[in-house]
Amino acid sequence: MAIKANIKKDDRVEVISGKNRGKVGRVKKLVADKKRLRVIVENVNLITRHTKPGPNSPGGKLEKEAPLDISNVALLCPKCHERTRVAHTFVPVVGSGKPRKVRVCKKCSEQIDEK
Ligand SMILES: [Zn+2]
Repeated sequence: MAIKANIKKDDRVEVISGKNRGKVGRVKKLVADKKRLRVIVENVNLITRHTKPGPNSPGGKLEKEAPLDISNVALLCPKCHERTRVAHTFVPVVGSGKPRKVRVCKKCSEQIDEK
């Protein structure tokens, strides 16, 4: 069964629990595990890897983002900049018979997804 997520790549999110609480960043990637969905947020939850010098690298410290559980982040509305939950609505698509499903901010009712 596919896991439903109301957060997508390039969304701005705020971390709402854990040691990174309060940090804000852009979603770089969604990582789907067996049961869980996690997100990699730009410059949040950095872990340091120490690498040994080798033929192709000078070695040293390498920082990279570790994934966060999706339940630990909240979407930030690009319109009202509030932490929000999303509703869905359908908008008609010109030239197509099918309406398109878009996300809507529950706080300001603005459409989150671009047309
Ligand atoms: Zn909003």
